[in-house]
Amino acid sequence: MKQNNSQTPSNENLRVVIRVRPPMAREIRDGKFISTVQVAPDNLQLCIFDYHAIELVPDEDLEQYVSNPSNYTLHQFTFDYVYDQDSTQEQVYNTTAALSVDSTLQGYNSTIIAYGQTGTGKTYTMHGFSFNPNSDQLGIIPRSLHNIFNHIQMKSNSSTTFMVRASYLQIYNENISDLLRDSASLNIREDKKRGVFVENLSEWAVRGPAEIYQLMRKGNAKRVTASTRMNDTSSRSHAVFIITVEQIEEKPEGKSARVGKLNLVDLAGSERVRVTGATGQRLEESKKINQSLSALGNVIAALTENRGSKPHIPYRDSKITRLLEDSLGGNCKTTFMAMISPAIDAFGESLSTLKFANRAKTIKNTPIVNQDGDQGALLRKYQLEIQKLKQELDERTKQPLENLVNELEKEKQKALEDKQEAQSAYEQRSKDLFKETELRKQLEEKISALNSQMLVGGQKIEETPQFQSALEKQQRLIRQQYQEKLTELEKERQCIEEDKAQTDKYKQLLLKQRDIMIALTNRLNDRDETILQLQEELDVYEKLQKENEDQFHSQQVRQEQFEELLLEHKIDIPMALQNQKQFNKEKVIDIQNDLQIQKLEQIPVQTLHTNQQVQSDALISYELKNQVEINKQISFDLKLTKTELEKRKNEIEQLIKISNSEQNDLILNARKSVDKILEQLTSQTNELGLANVAKELNQLQKMLKQGLQPSKSHIKGQNSFSKSTSDSPNKIILINKQNDQMAKSTGQLVKLMQQKPQSKQNQSPVLSSKLKQKQKSVEDLWSQSSNVQF
Ligand code: ADP
Ligand code: MG
Repeated sequence: MKQNNSQTPSNENLRVVIRVRPPMAREIRDGKFISTVQVAPDNLQLCIFDYHAIELVPDEDLEQYVSNPSNYTLHQFTFDYVYDQDSTQEQVYNTTAALSVDSTLQGYNSTIIAYGQTGTGKTYTMHGFSFNPNSDQLGIIPRSLHNIFNHIQMKSNSSTTFMVRASYLQIYNENISDLLRDSASLNIREDKKRGVFVENLSEWAVRGPAEIYQLMRKGNAKRVTASTRMNDTSSRSHAVFIITVEQIEEKPEGKSARVGKLNLVDLAGSERVRVTGATGQRLEESKKINQSLSALGNVIAALTENRGSKPHIPYRDSKITRLLEDSLGGNCKTTFMAMISPAIDAFGESLSTLKFANRAKTIKNTPIVNQDGDQGALLRKYQLEIQKLKQELDERTKQPLENLVNELEKEKQKALEDKQEAQSAYEQRSKDLFKETELRKQLEEKISALNSQMLVGGQKIEETPQFQSALEKQQRLIRQQYQEKLTELEKERQCIEEDKAQTDKYKQLLLKQRDIMIALTNRLNDRDETILQLQEELDVYEKLQKENEDQFHSQQVRQEQFEELLLEHKIDIPMALQNQKQFNKEKVIDIQNDLQIQKLEQIPVQTLHTNQQVQSDALISYELKNQVEINKQISFDLKLTKTELEKRKNEIEQLIKISNSEQNDLILNARKSVDKILEQLTSQTNELGLANVAKELNQLQKMLKQGLQPSKSHIKGQNSFSKSTSDSPNKIILINKQNDQMAKSTGQLVKLMQQKPQSKQNQSPVLSSKLKQKQKSVEDLWSQSSNVQF
């Protein structure tokens, strides 16, 4: 067994761990896998089996061959930690990466370098190929950031302000490019304050875990990868993810700032180191990878070989070694993670990787906390010096006192002077530091005002109590203003609502008014129609009356002609004809009595008697007496009728006044007709005429009842109308009153007219039969006279 530097490493500033990845599907043959690596249960030691000429052994004999110790040489290594193939991402993080993250949080520079052959799990260990925060596949980069944010969260309410920034770069073909921003090739610079850094590399403030994945996705998409024999997405470049954690702590004695940097390096496949004479299109690429990894080997060799006090370290031979200058033998806590495959095929590469890792163990780093105002360290330095001087003094006191007193005094004096000098130097330095702290303070305040990406103990600036109280005050003010505005608006709304209600009321009233106007118009139209009808009927009546008169007149004329003819021919008027004439006269008188009331009234009864003396017939005299009585009654009735009609005439006149100008003509006509009726009534000569007038008036009453009587709805409308308006309803009431009066008076008149013939009959049945007889005898006379031969 070959032991390789097997003592347990004790250098906490440079740790070397190994991770063995599980076999891949293509490495398992017939469900069997022969591993060349064995990890000790303490996870500190590892053995790798170097099987002799195993490639010549047939598959079926392999199992037996590998179990025979004479067929292999065993190489044993000891590291800070060895992860076997069953190790989880979480274990790797907790036992190795977490230490680096802690160092970063303390203000150290820390670096984790993943080294190994392509396909051994460098990228898997660093990234984990997952962007899900809950995945157990998450690699060191996301877990580190989660851890940092957890730490900040735990320090919430403390006086420490944090700022987390991330950068991501790759070195491909010896060109540095920014993986988080499009950029040209970047250069490496160095200054006293910042040390080695990449100029113009973008830094992205990360405010929470969610932003980690965004950056990783962005960077990985840009990373140049290409397919190789061993790994489909093998990295052809070195990738460096840089997390910077800045923290400023406020202490009673002032502010102190710390800056920790965590470099997470995923190197390109190390197998290229050993590939010589590579051909094909990847030759140039491989050469560059070779060069840089060779340079890394050389730097490590230079760092670990003891070549005098100040050996030359060839950092500048490649970009990666230049960039990792601090991490390799400088101000950094570095962890080497060497990945190996357990497959027999990869034995050569695995052994080479293990040897490389083993050599790196001896690198000596001297990390210091990157902080400003490190007055404690300076004081400690002076204290050490005084202690040294005191020791020297003690040694000299052992010499003869007298010789030494002066010397001692001198030494003491010198020491005091030195001390004073140191004191003043210290004071000067303090002043400078104070100035610089002040300057820094101002800058910080500026930054904090501008940059909300800063976190205070897990809180964003806007979550600090001062900010919160100011915000609340502002919110209170705005809320109050808002409330006032709201009340104002509510008042306005109420006013508008009241206005609206008022308007609605007016609208309702106007609608009602409109309905009433319509109803009124309809009724006026109806009345106009009725008046027209009435007029027409009066015209017809007039015509009929005229015909009657004409007929009666011609009858008289013919009778007179007949009498004259008889006289001419000296023919005695036959008795029957004389009687007939007498009857006719009586009839005329009768009719005149019936109708010419006023005249009959003025004739004294005596005169009537003398006139009637010719007719000494007692019966006739009695009848005449009776007739005078009847005439008186008729005269009285007609008087009543006349007054009623006069009333009605007045009413119609009133109606005409009320009606609008368009209807005036019609109403005038109606009035004329009514006048005519009156006229006819006063000059009526027969019963038939009176009956006709009665009929006319009956119809008129009916019409007035039907057409002019206000309907119920009209009355309703009228009531509501009269409530709401002050003008129109009075008119309606007046019209209705007039209608009622008209109907009433007409009704009375008609009644009287209808009663007349009856009362005549009742009072004088004899006269009535007499009249009928007379009528009959006239008719007979006519028929006789027409038969007379001249
Ligand atoms: P490298 O970056 O070193 O070239 P990768 O990280 O790409 O290699 O890993 C190569 C393959 O091996 C990937 O598919 C990866 O998922 C797988 N792999 C590597 N290490 C492990 C591991 N420890 N557990 C499970 N799978 C792994
Ligand atoms: Mg990779």
